[in-house]
Amino acid sequence: MNTDLYFDYNGSTPIHDLVLETYIAAVRDGYGNTAAAHPEGLRSRELLIRSREQIAASIKASPDQIWFVSGGTEANNWALIGAAEAMPEKRHLVVSTIEHKSVLNSIRYLERRGHRVTWLDPEPHGALDPDRVKAAIEADTLLVSMMLVNNETGVLQPARAVFEACRERGVFFHCDAVAGLGKMVVNLDTVPCDYLTFSSHKMYAPKGCGVLYAQADAPLAPLIHGCGSQPGKRGGTVNMPAAAAFAKAFAMLDDGDLTDHQSMEQLRDTLEALIKARIPGATRNGDGARLNNTLSIAFPGLRGTDLVQALGARGVSVSAGSAATNSPSHVLRAMGLSDERAGGSLRISMGHYTDEDQISRLVTHLEQAVAELGASVGV
Ligand code: PMP
Repeated sequence: MNTDLYFDYNGSTPIHDLVLETYIAAVRDGYGNTAAAHPEGLRSRELLIRSREQIAASIKASPDQIWFVSGGTEANNWALIGAAEAMPEKRHLVVSTIEHKSVLNSIRYLERRGHRVTWLDPEPHGALDPDRVKAAIEADTLLVSMMLVNNETGVLQPARAVFEACRERGVFFHCDAVAGLGKMVVNLDTVPCDYLTFSSHKMYAPKGCGVLYAQADAPLAPLIHGCGSQPGKRGGTVNMPAAAAFAKAFAMLDDGDLTDHQSMEQLRDTLEALIKARIPGATRNGDGARLNNTLSIAFPGLRGTDLVQALGARGVSVSAGSAATNSPSHVLRAMGLSDERAGGSLRISMGHYTDEDQISRLVTHLEQAVAELGASVGV
């Protein structure tokens, strides 16, 4: 596994060796269908039950509130569309404009089907103002959807204050915690909410597993209809090996084996200081409390996508905005940044395998790439 000069941990993480071992063992030993009554089915089901218990314990939930799905995208779709279907009389939704596209597009889907939506931009530093969220709640508001932390800027969002405002008004709160897991303590004490979304491949586990936590009274109509081992809620045979691997990653997180938060923060700050010292004009996007592993930074006069390519040619993996888009980041634009600045930004995200030597080589490559591209476009 080559993790050298890999700086897109918010896009996807390498798979930790111990997680991979768990995964391989579960693929090998847990081939039986988790819904079947025979011994091999029972063996698989036992692994699934233990995985669910581990994740529930890690986030301080009860196992019957944990649902396995295919990823963060499905968990977000399900929470939002499933809640709306279960409570059709509540026609209004509140959502931030800096959410992941899986939230934005689920909400747009509901909007096309007649829901009213209040879209809330963040403040210029990148976080939402909880008072504005509170003021947006109406008599027939079903829920507020706001992520725990933004995956592009790393800026923390006011989850607790928004949850309290929702509680006061009898409104449900959905929180996408995909970007926060592994980089800060995430459980129902630290992030009180009604629905919580997680994704396996952002936390050293293979792709193909997400978790939706839904508290017992939170409305949730099924989105995927079928049979399987989560009957009546989510059809389809559960990807048990991926769930077991994800559970192993949660266990390692609990044991402090995945991230040393303090040294990660030091690396992030060193990275920012080095870039600013060596590349004039480089400006960080986002301010205030931020994730320890993420730096969003703008390079005037250049395009982030060109930088991604130039760095890629040097064996460096970074992303411009979120991993999956070429257009200027909707997050940075919602913060009020110009198209030019948003389009000239890189997201550098670090993780378990990043060290100081990689940071220093990244900055050297970045300095050269900026100089070359700058010379070609005349900045
Ligand atoms: N939410 C956030 C904040 C994300 O960063 C991502 C992944 N880009 C998702 C949701 C979607 O997760 P998945 O890739 O597992 O569908």
